[in-house]
Amino acid sequence: MRKIFICAVCNLPEEKCTCDRYCTFCRNTYSVRLAEDGQYYCRDCREACDYKVQEDA
Ligand SMILES: [Zn+2]
Ligand SMILES: [Zn+2]
Repeated sequence: MRKIFICAVCNLPEEKCTCDRYCTFCRNTYSVRLAEDGQYYCRDCREACDYKVQEDA
C-alpha cells in the first residue's frame, strides 16, 4: 500500500489539492511536491531536508 499524504491546508490528497503550491521554505514554485508533514516543498529543499514525497502510482 502506498502512503497518501494530505495537504495541511485543505485536508485533501495531493492529486485533489487545488491550493497554490509553493515551497514552504523558499517560496519556489519549481518542482513542488507535498511531503509527509502536509506542506509543499521544492526539490532542492526536499533533498536538503530528506523529505519524502508520495510515491506515484
Ligand atoms: Zn491543499
Ligand atoms: Zn524550497
